[in-house]
Amino acid sequence: MESLKRTKIKALLAMEPGVEVLAKGWVRTKRGNKQVKFIALNDGSTINNIQIVANTELFDEELIKRITTGASLSVKGDLVESVGSGQHVEIQAKEIEVLGECDPMRFPLQKKDTTLEFLRSVAHMRLRTNTFGAVLRIRNAMAFAIHKFFNEKGFVYLHTPLITESDAEGAGDMFQVTTMDLKNIPLDKKGDVDFSKDFFGKKTSLTVSGQLEGELGATAVGEIYTFGPTFRAENSNTPRHLAEFWMIEPEMAFYDINDNMALAEEFVKYLVQYALDNCMDDLKFLNQKYDEGLIERMQGVLGIPFQKVTYTEAVEILEKAIADGVKFEYPVHWGTDFQSEHERYLVEKHFQKPVILIDFPKDIKAFYMKQNPDGRTVRGMDVLFPKIGEIIGGSEREADLQKLETRIDELGMSRKNLEWYIDTRRYGSVPHSGFGLGFERLLLFVTGMANIRDVIPFPRTPKNAEF
Ligand code: ATP
Ligand code: MN
Repeated sequence: MESLKRTKIKALLAMEPGVEVLAKGWVRTKRGNKQVKFIALNDGSTINNIQIVANTELFDEELIKRITTGASLSVKGDLVESVGSGQHVEIQAKEIEVLGECDPMRFPLQKKDTTLEFLRSVAHMRLRTNTFGAVLRIRNAMAFAIHKFFNEKGFVYLHTPLITESDAEGAGDMFQVTTMDLKNIPLDKKGDVDFSKDFFGKKTSLTVSGQLEGELGATAVGEIYTFGPTFRAENSNTPRHLAEFWMIEPEMAFYDINDNMALAEEFVKYLVQYALDNCMDDLKFLNQKYDEGLIERMQGVLGIPFQKVTYTEAVEILEKAIADGVKFEYPVHWGTDFQSEHERYLVEKHFQKPVILIDFPKDIKAFYMKQNPDGRTVRGMDVLFPKIGEIIGGSEREADLQKLETRIDELGMSRKNLEWYIDTRRYGSVPHSGFGLGFERLLLFVTGMANIRDVIPFPRTPKNAEF
């Protein structure tokens, strides 16, 4: 007898009946009666299960008992037309092997209705749930689509370092990297930590952004993007912040702020469209289980141009809202950074579409942003999305050597540590722009999940690095 190859469940469900097949996967549920058992089997290739029909006359009672929720099986049988399973085919089992038993009394996922909060406490097992299967498949599809988008445009994928000496960007608090013995830290004559004795001979940290190195790449090969882990010691326990997250940072030579905004809009629309085109089964599941407005909201951002509005105009809108009785937790006046509640008001209430905020006060933005002629604002841009708030932060970069150096001095930063970066402005400086998209913020939008801890397999947050 020729040996039968395993077919994944996603493929099985698309096949025509009348063939012998081999399926492998994990038991989701088992039900039935004395004569026949119905086993819902899932192998992660799709949100959908295949139904295994097991005639109890053909199998040992002992074997049937070992088929419990969570157990792994190998099933050989005939693919037949199904009447009741909700799918058009099912497997009439001829041979069943239990690959791995699963004690129903101890299996962490035994409860029928498990909250997302509970699942976070069993993050090593939660990947086996329908919810996390859907999230992981969408996450994978989005990662692929990101590479596809940039490769089709001729961008070069640049790998920027995770360990860095520069804390220049000031994008967030950093995690220090050291091999020093914390109980016996070498000190210099002044009593300060002597980093020359540390592994790199300097104080080093995990990166908060690949942008500065990204600019080196863009001013060499034209258009680059990074896509990698990013670390911020954010001590704020919000549903939108992780200590370790993934960021996509394109950086483009010869792009001004308008080119930058156009690319950001095209990019996120492409990703949302890709999810709608390729992940519909998972989206329908999440839409039904967690967020009734998900698919509609996704379709909603595609058809319309994003609303461009200056920071100054946005302050006026928010001040008017407050005058009209809208309550915010945090105050708003020209010069303050917006909170997520303000961003969401602009997007969800006022404009009812994604917003691109531009021209921020220079004092709330990073040193490298291009200065506007007014002397008080810079060419930053934040893309704001419904339900999320800020999803992208970016800017046209200051290409003028003098202006950049003056700004570095004004902020009391050390020019010495930034010489390598400033060289881009000394030798063949060009107008250029870029932005950072938080991968998990995007995933919040395309999965409908409400908490960023539920769109990354193993979240890292304050006091939590288990699994
Ligand atoms: P926020 O104000 O929301 O903290 P930010 O202004 O610090 O964001 P940027 O420094 O502009 O963010 O980083 C670019 C993008 O990275 C943000 O638009 C967001 O999508 C994402 N991002 C920033 N911090 C985090 C974090 N701690 N966890 C997850 N994503 C983040
Ligand atoms: Mn932040």
